[in-house]
Amino acid sequence: MDISVVIPLYNEAESLPELEAWIERVMKEHNFTYEIIFVNDGSTDNSWEVIQELQQKNSCIKAIKFRRNYGKSPGLHCGFQRAKGDVVITMDADLQDSPDEIPELYRMIKEDGYDLVSGWKKKRYDPLSKTLPTKLFNATARKFSGIDNLHDFNCGLKAYKSVVIKNIEVYNDMHRYIPYLAKIAGFHKIGEKVVQHQARKYGTTKFGLNRFVNGYLDLITLWFTSKFGKKPMHFFGLWGSVMFFIGFIALVFVLTMKLISMFSGDLRPLVTNSPYFYISLTAMILGTQMFLAGFIGELISRNSPNRNNYKIESEI
Ligand code: UDP
Ligand code: MG
Repeated sequence: MDISVVIPLYNEAESLPELEAWIERVMKEHNFTYEIIFVNDGSTDNSWEVIQELQQKNSCIKAIKFRRNYGKSPGLHCGFQRAKGDVVITMDADLQDSPDEIPELYRMIKEDGYDLVSGWKKKRYDPLSKTLPTKLFNATARKFSGIDNLHDFNCGLKAYKSVVIKNIEVYNDMHRYIPYLAKIAGFHKIGEKVVQHQARKYGTTKFGLNRFVNGYLDLITLWFTSKFGKKPMHFFGLWGSVMFFIGFIALVFVLTMKLISMFSGDLRPLVTNSPYFYISLTAMILGTQMFLAGFIGELISRNSPNRNNYKIESEI
């Protein structure tokens, strides 16, 4: 099979028939053998019924229905696991990405030998409230990942050599960093193609502003994992020990001062009489410890083997 098109979707019923017809047309025009894998991420509208109807007419359609809404990344992961095509294309379901880009993306993977080609929405049709933070986001992602030829990490339209998606795991909100995940997994030939971008025709965006907070948290974990990936606990062990040592020295110091002040009324040092000294010392140490504990938790949860524990309700 030439191409698998993986489409995660959440409440996109109105767009699906148009999208499916468009993809089908492109595939037929170019004589591609293909499959479309819809991953219905807990839609509450009638997206699933629409997909079932489409599948009656086109046997190239496969679909998975999640029990509830898990997010775009688990959706992609599930689709990737099932994909059988030599080239795997991902796109959003909302018609913002154009299926007309598929043949050229396919060619770039097959002939130019790219592992991954990421779409670049050079001319975006989204409000400024979205394009501005996105600019900042892309600049940061470029810096952290070291993939400096990419302008648009988050574009839903991407193409992969099948071996790439079989060797990465997209989880949490990591769909934003798939090129970085691919790089960490050892795939270095990452390209970009300027793609057309439409304004959303139906429905509304599924991501709010908190996407950026989550996005940055994911980026930091990913960066940390790639930097200290082999021995992350050593990093924490070192700083934990340093904090313990500082606490220990402070304790010895305070006790010594106490002893001195007990034996000589004149030598009463100011610090040991001030409760603020103890409070700030404790706060400093506790704060650091808690920060590290939280970060360890974050790292473990974001890297746990059960991170993709979505439940499937049905599959056609
Ligand atoms: N999506 C999903 N699960 C979610 C949120 C979004 O599968 O929890 C899908 C959505 O239906 C669309 C794609 O992810 O196909 C991109 O979402 P959206 O268009 O809302 O994002 P934007 O284009 O605004 O970045
Ligand atoms: Mg969209």
